[in-house]
Amino acid sequence: MLKVVKFGGSSMADAKQFEKVKKIVKSDEARKVVVVSAAGKRFSDDHKITDLLYLCYAHVKYGVDCDPVFNQIRERYISIRNECGLKTDIESQLDNIYQKLNTDITQDELVSRGEYLSAYLMADFLGFKFVDSTEWVKFLYDGSIDYAASYKSLSEIYDDRGIVIPGFYGTLPNGDIKIFSRGGSDITGALAAAALNADIYENWTDVPGVLMADPRIVENPKPIKRLTYDELRELSYMGAQVLHEATVYPIKQCHIPLNIKDTNNPDIEGTMILEKIEDTISGSITGIAGKKNFTIITVTKTGLSSAVGVLRMLTEIFENFGIPIECVPSSIDTVSIVVSNKSVHKKIYAIVDEIKKKYRPENIGVINDISLVAVVGRNMVSKPGTSGKIFAALGKNGINIRIISQGPDEKNIIVGIDDCNYEKAIKCLYDEFIN
Ligand code: ASP
Repeated sequence: MLKVVKFGGSSMADAKQFEKVKKIVKSDEARKVVVVSAAGKRFSDDHKITDLLYLCYAHVKYGVDCDPVFNQIRERYISIRNECGLKTDIESQLDNIYQKLNTDITQDELVSRGEYLSAYLMADFLGFKFVDSTEWVKFLYDGSIDYAASYKSLSEIYDDRGIVIPGFYGTLPNGDIKIFSRGGSDITGALAAAALNADIYENWTDVPGVLMADPRIVENPKPIKRLTYDELRELSYMGAQVLHEATVYPIKQCHIPLNIKDTNNPDIEGTMILEKIEDTISGSITGIAGKKNFTIITVTKTGLSSAVGVLRMLTEIFENFGIPIECVPSSIDTVSIVVSNKSVHKKIYAIVDEIKKKYRPENIGVINDISLVAVVGRNMVSKPGTSGKIFAALGKNGINIRIISQGPDEKNIIVGIDDCNYEKAIKCLYDEFIN
């Protein structure tokens, strides 16, 4: 049995958190591959080490003294070392980084050092071997992950004994360090799980699992016990912040279950994410998520519903402006294109002009500040009643629905409402379906 376990920044923030990590790892001998983030925030207005490293780079780049910032990084890791009662020579590691600051260190290399230092200390604390991600996480020159080469390298290095790996970075073919986008240690964990064909990938964080709704809107939303990778994708796309979005690909490919757990409450079962779940609790939903700030561009022309090639022509205009389309609700002789406010900002007049020129519609309407709210659930398929409940709940609460979207796979039902009703809509849907 092999468990790959990844601990996020809040689990690595100080010596107390290091102790919790050790207890978790040592309580199960299958937890042999440990992936760690840089130290995160200890309290709400504290700084993440990764942010401080970005700040250091900016200081060096613009010729400003970075010592006050670097000293905060130095102090954090030295105090973790001291409070954990370790003798690790972390000073030499910090000095190496500091010396490199005034040479040719790249931003990626400097920013990756938070994970490096965390893993270096954690390896000593656990009595595990430190395995640098430069040895096995391989990128191609276009910035994509070289999965095959990465898997091969780690499986050759790993000898069944405990190891600690820094998350967040790997190397380009020329050996230069490259980082993932923010939150990327989740991906390192998923790659390690796939490379070693782990039985499970545990992602330890500071929440009791994936929540059924945004905790900033709904008070104490319930955690989701089990969900599928597809549902996770739907919920994350629609704004639920859980994991880095590239995490799922490697583990889904290798059929590895993912368990999200809370370092501060290790006995809570957390959320188990699986490829398939065989249950059919009629009409139940998995979660509610949403995003604000969309724009709807509505084009009306008589005869549109029977004309050929209209959608292609309209969507091509958005493609030429480099704008991704969220959804395309339509009715007879009317097509609406939903895009984010941000993506059309500054381009909207040019787009409307282009549609008028190419298509000569009778009318073009632009509505800003629309929210999309998605009700997601594998158990909605072929079960009548869910959309009825959604519409009734919103109607009862005086929330007007501007658009409706649902595909025949019935994995989610999306409604578009005015931004000013966003929080209210999430709350009343939660009350309707979950409370
Ligand atoms: N330390 C990095 C960040 O703050 C990567 C991670 O923690 O996953 O984004």
